[in-house]
Amino acid sequence: MLSRDEVFDELGIGPVWRLRDASSSSPLSAPGSPLPAHRSPFTDWDQLAEAVAHCTACKLHSTRTQGVLGVGDRNADWLIIGEAPGADEDAQGEPFVGQAGKLLDAMLAAIDLKRGDKVYITNVLKSRPPGNRNPEHDEVAACRPYLLAQIELIQPKLILALGRFAAQSLLDTDEAVGRLRGRVHQFQNVPLVVTYHPAYLLRNLPDKARAWEDLCLARRTMQALACAR
Ligand code: URA
Repeated sequence: MLSRDEVFDELGIGPVWRLRDASSSSPLSAPGSPLPAHRSPFTDWDQLAEAVAHCTACKLHSTRTQGVLGVGDRNADWLIIGEAPGADEDAQGEPFVGQAGKLLDAMLAAIDLKRGDKVYITNVLKSRPPGNRNPEHDEVAACRPYLLAQIELIQPKLILALGRFAAQSLLDTDEAVGRLRGRVHQFQNVPLVVTYHPAYLLRNLPDKARAWEDLCLARRTMQALACAR
């Protein structure tokens, strides 16, 4: 377990990154009910896991090692959604286990969260695009029922969308992350906060400070939801 200072070191933001207290103003104007309006064809996790393991709905099934459904608490408050498995994730069958995953764990630890404890982590795509190329439109569409089923089964209180593909595909927009971050969106009545993808942050250190602001926004949103209950 990393200490708070180690977490800040990992994030490269030094002592500037400190948690604000819960009394700062609520980013939520109208908390919605976290219940998706549709019903997915998957009624339980076993069915869903089986479907992802044997999925041939897009061409990625022929190059992947395995489908990567997700990891963590199936009754999570926090649902973290990334882009797609990379080489490490494809080999190990778990999302965010490479360098980007290390940074994601540090980002979660900075707001007192940890993988598996009230947190579920998944990706828009459940199969690795070869050479880590960008997901293609038909692949995102083919995987969408799995992501919707996960949201319905988990009923998270908040979704954190990591990077362009997660944000744009969930919010059905082509706006850049820089324009989507900094406010609370809704996905089927679930509050959704957008931040930079950890792999992007590894290459763009100055944006880590903005990612910290996003994490604080997500945390304040969660606190506001708890107070609103
Ligand atoms: N990047 C992602 O978006 N997801 C992973 O699981 C790993 C890296």
